[in-house]
Amino acid sequence: MPECLFCRIVSGGVPASRVLESPRTLSFRDISPQAPTHVLVIPRDHYPDLPALTAADPALLAEVLSQVREVAEAEGISGRGYRVVFNTGADAGQAVPHVHAHVLGGRALSWPPG
Ligand code: AMP
Ligand code: ZN
Repeated sequence: MPECLFCRIVSGGVPASRVLESPRTLSFRDISPQAPTHVLVIPRDHYPDLPALTAADPALLAEVLSQVREVAEAEGISGRGYRVVFNTGADAGQAVPHVHAHVLGGRALSWPPG
């Protein structure tokens, strides 16, 4: 069994509320939503963070971003707007070392972040 939490979600070993799937990506609802829509988009393959994915497989990063767009359409937030966040490393508070895009929307979001 892989130890990475999001790899276990990909394999089905850990349940998740799936939103969209593609051959190389998966989207599911954040377990602790910070907005009415809070979906995580990940590549099925394991990369620890955004720079690792970008360096290794930029085409896969493009697929992740394409799925972000599809999630926003499916969730009905593309018109009003939404935020896409890749927390990267300690100062950003990245807690899960499997690259993921947070898609946040459904309410006005404050800026700048704390
Ligand atoms: P980050 O701080 O960017 O690494 O974000 C990790 C996110 O994963 C947090 O927003 C958590 O709420 C979320 N999370 C942790 N465990 C799960 C889980 N089992 N299913 C869905 N989301 C999760
Ligand atoms: Zn992983």
